[in-house]
Amino acid sequence: MQTKTQVEDLQNYLTDASNMPGGYADRLVVPESISDISGVLREANEAGVAVTIAGARTGTVGGAVPFGGVVLSLEKLNRIKSIDKAGLSAVVEPGVVLADFQKAVEAEGLFYPPDPTEWSCQVGGTVATNASGSRSFKYGATREFVTGLKIVLADGELLNLKRGSAFSADGKEVRVVSESGRSIAARVSSYRRPDVRKNVSGYYNAEPLDAIDLFIGSEGTLGVITEIELRLLPKPEGFFSGIIFFERTDKLLAFVDEVRLLSFENRKGPVAIAPGSDVDASLIEYFDDRALSFISEKFPETPSGMAGAIFFEQETTAETEDSLFEQWNALLEKHNADIDRSWFTTTEQDREKMRAFRHALPVSVNERVVRNKQKKIGTDMAVPDENFAGFLKFYKETLDASGIDYVIFGHIGDCHLHANLLPKDEAEAERSRHLYGRFIAQALMLGGTISAEHGVGKLKSKYLNVMMGERYMNEMAELKKAFDPKGILGRGNLFGVGSV
Ligand SMILES: Cc1cc2nc3c(=O)[nH]c(=O)nc-3n(C[C@H](O)[C@H](O)[C@H](O)COP(=O)(O)OP(=O)(O)OC[C@H]3O[C@@H](n4cnc5c(N)ncnc54)[C@H](O)[C@@H]3O)c2cc1C
Repeated sequence: MQTKTQVEDLQNYLTDASNMPGGYADRLVVPESISDISGVLREANEAGVAVTIAGARTGTVGGAVPFGGVVLSLEKLNRIKSIDKAGLSAVVEPGVVLADFQKAVEAEGLFYPPDPTEWSCQVGGTVATNASGSRSFKYGATREFVTGLKIVLADGELLNLKRGSAFSADGKEVRVVSESGRSIAARVSSYRRPDVRKNVSGYYNAEPLDAIDLFIGSEGTLGVITEIELRLLPKPEGFFSGIIFFERTDKLLAFVDEVRLLSFENRKGPVAIAPGSDVDASLIEYFDDRALSFISEKFPETPSGMAGAIFFEQETTAETEDSLFEQWNALLEKHNADIDRSWFTTTEQDREKMRAFRHALPVSVNERVVRNKQKKIGTDMAVPDENFAGFLKFYKETLDASGIDYVIFGHIGDCHLHANLLPKDEAEAERSRHLYGRFIAQALMLGGTISAEHGVGKLKSKYLNVMMGERYMNEMAELKKAFDPKGILGRGNLFGVGSV
């Protein structure tokens, strides 16, 4: 196991994709086995030293940014241990890069849908944040695919959890037994989850709660994820994909509403049940007018003068391809899409180009923010379906009135968009932070969540406090204490820097 203490060795581990400043650490450790991790944690726990778990540091909320103590990087635990084609499952170490895993799975004719746009992240990081993304519209977030976890707890003890093996009793207390036979009981937080399609704000709760779900999305605060068993799907025969441009936002929104409705109807049964339609999108992504002109710097072929665009995909087979093409075409005509200037494909190569187009947007946003020497101010809230159109209007009107540069894009199928503010100087940054607070307040007033997919980390802990209130924050703190009594893991995540 490598241990490094030199400033130049630590430098890359002191921030993540959020560019959160101020990170510092005494030591970087790069374990090569579970027993290495166990040893590091046992020692740190005895001394009460903070341990920050680092994946690929592509997180956007400062979750992997240390404020003292040890950084534990999982980059060397990067083996795909098995892919079981017949059993549709895989076992991986946490440091496997998501893109490598997806490639390996596809080479076996299988499919792993979680797709958080940034493919350089580690599978362990995606489990720790319950990452989702465009394809979650059809397949769900990372949680839906995790069937087993090996975890090292704060005191170095090992925990082996299989989905379905430990549930909370009466929805109140969850009990797990470590490999050495120690029983740990934790009270499940009793807050009511908002009625939104995606939510990663705070510890997961459900009645009854499967213990494995507590650790998924726990943002490095309950244990180190050291091995992951995943469910896989057969690789779809093909995909029909399109990026469609609209001249009017109301038409675009009506199109999305109809696609969403048809997709839900057609998923209810083994055969399509929406009369006369087989439309069942696997992703529906949105770009507003400003996002399109922003992205045209990298993709000059982007048509100008459009109100917005939708990127969609649907699984196809040789039998369904032609009929699906006609059905999508009919929908596009009905909703006045600019079909002539839109892009369609059924080839893997062009589909990759479309995904690159989508990926270029958050990347360009991050580049712009760095160029402006500012921190990214991007929203990740989601609101209930019935409030979505109103929330989008609120975003647009407020941002247009502010005069600050911005782009809006994201997972419109899940009623979840990212508004990214691009301040040019400190005065605009100050106003942007103020606007961010207004968006949080509006989302909460509409029954939404402060974070649908990026997590809370350190940067959003104060908003989690607003969303949860003191009572539920205390319940979550008690839950953390059950697994990490000295509060050494992921210090500052969820509960704020300065807290445990
Ligand atoms: C351009 C861009 C686009 C993105 N788009 C999306 C998107 O569409 N959807 C989405 O969900 N996310 C998105 N993300 C963020 C996404 O959450 C991260 O990319 C990913 O989930 C984190 O993985 P990582 O390995 O980089 O983890 P890190 O950033 O290193 O860590 C994230 C958190 O997980 C903890 N952690 C990491 N590994 C472990 C482990 N093995 N055990 C316990 N805790 C651990 C860390 O302590 C930290 O709290 C995007 C990021 C970027 C930069």
